[in-house]
Amino acid sequence: MIYLDNNATTPVREEVMEAMLPYLKEEFGNPASKYYPQAIKAKEAVEEARFHVASLINAKPEEIIFTAGAAEANNMIIKGISDFQKFYAPKSKNHIITSTVEHESVLNVCKFLNGEIYSNKDAVLTFGGNKKVNRGYRVDFAPVNEYGQVTVETLSNLLSEDTSLVSLIWGNNEIGSLNDIKALTELCKSKNIYFHSDGTQVLGRVEVDVQKIPVDLLSFSAHKLNGPKGVGCAFLRTDKYGRRPQLTSLIHGGEQEEGLRAGTHAVHNIVGFGKAAELAKRELNSKINKLNALEQELKKGLQEVVSDIEFIGNPINKLPGVLSFIIHKEMFNNEIFIKKIANQLAASSGSACTAGKPSHVLSSLDRKSDTRKFIRISFSTDITYSIADICNIIASNL
Ligand code: PMP
Repeated sequence: MIYLDNNATTPVREEVMEAMLPYLKEEFGNPASKYYPQAIKAKEAVEEARFHVASLINAKPEEIIFTAGAAEANNMIIKGISDFQKFYAPKSKNHIITSTVEHESVLNVCKFLNGEIYSNKDAVLTFGGNKKVNRGYRVDFAPVNEYGQVTVETLSNLLSEDTSLVSLIWGNNEIGSLNDIKALTELCKSKNIYFHSDGTQVLGRVEVDVQKIPVDLLSFSAHKLNGPKGVGCAFLRTDKYGRRPQLTSLIHGGEQEEGLRAGTHAVHNIVGFGKAAELAKRELNSKINKLNALEQELKKGLQEVVSDIEFIGNPINKLPGVLSFIIHKEMFNNEIFIKKIANQLAASSGSACTAGKPSHVLSSLDRKSDTRKFIRISFSTDITYSIADICNIIASNL
C-alpha cells in the first residue's frame, strides 16, 4: 500500500510515540496541579514541548498556546480577535478579510461571523429558506488568482478603516500554492491591522521564521508533521513589552494556557507535538530537498504515461511534495478512480475535511467543471516504493 495523502495526515513517528508513552503511563499528572512529582514532571514536559514548537518557527515559548489542533486555533484566533476588536478595543472595528480558498475551519468561521451559517454540516440556515443573521461583523472573501493566491493588490483594495483582522492561508491544502505571506503581512502591518495565517500545511515543510515575517498570528496542527492527532497550537506574537494580541476566549473555563484556552492539557499529545517539532527542525532542509525531488520525478513520470494531464497550482511557490492535477478524460471521475485504486495507493480528490463535496478551491479558480477530475498526491520522505510503481498504478486504472 502506497500512502500518498500526507496533506490529510501523516503517521506518528516511532520517536514521537516513544516520547509520548510515559505520559500515558506513569507520568500521568495534571500539569495544573502542584507540588508532587507527577504534576511537576507533567508541567515540565509541557514547557519543554512549548520550547521545541516555538523553536521550529523561531518564536518565544510564551508565544505558543496549545490547542486541540489547527481547526481550534483558527477558531480561537478569528473569533477571539474579531470579538475583542469589536467589543473591547478603544476603537471598535468589525471588518474581517479572508479568501475563498481557505480551509473550512477558516471559511466557515468567517461565514458564521458574517451571519451566513450556524453549523458546518449543510452549512446554510434553513429556517424556511436561507436566513442571514446580523452578528455585527462584515466579512470580505477575497478572490484569488489562477493559482489560488491572494495578491497584495487584491488585499489592498479590500482593506478599510474598520478592518480588524486579515486571515489568509499560507500553503493551500488542496492545490499546494503558497501565498506571499511576507508581502501580505507587511501590507497589513503598515496599516496596523492584525494578520493571521493558517500555517497548518507549511509547518515542517517550508521555512517558517517569525523573525523574518512579521505575521501576528498563526495556526498549526501536530499530525501534519508526524505528531499525534488532536493537538496543535496558536502562535500569538508578543510585543517588546511581552504583551500578546488581546482576544476573547473561545473556551471559557480554567486558566490553562494563560487563560486563553481552558481545559486540562493533553500532556501526551503536547509532548508528541514537541518531539515532532524537534525532529522537523532538525530535518527541514533535507526533507524539503527530498520532497521536491520526489515531486519532480513523479511529475515527469506522469507526463510520460498519462495523456491529458494538467498540473494546477503555482509551479514554483508551492508546498514541496504536493502534486495536484486534473485528468482531462471525458469519463474520468476522481471519486470512482480513488476508490478503485484504494487498496494499492492512497490519494485524494481534495480536502479530507470536505470529502465527497466538489472542491471550493477549484470552484474559486473558475474550474467548477473540473472538480470531479481533480487528484491530489502528497508525499512523505519515508518511501518504500518506486515512482514507476505509482505511475503504473495510475496509468493502468484510468
Ligand atoms: N487548516 C488546514 C490548511 C488543514 O489542512 C487542516 C487539516 N486538514 C486544518 C486547518 C485543520 O487541522 P485539524 O483538523 O488538525 O484541526
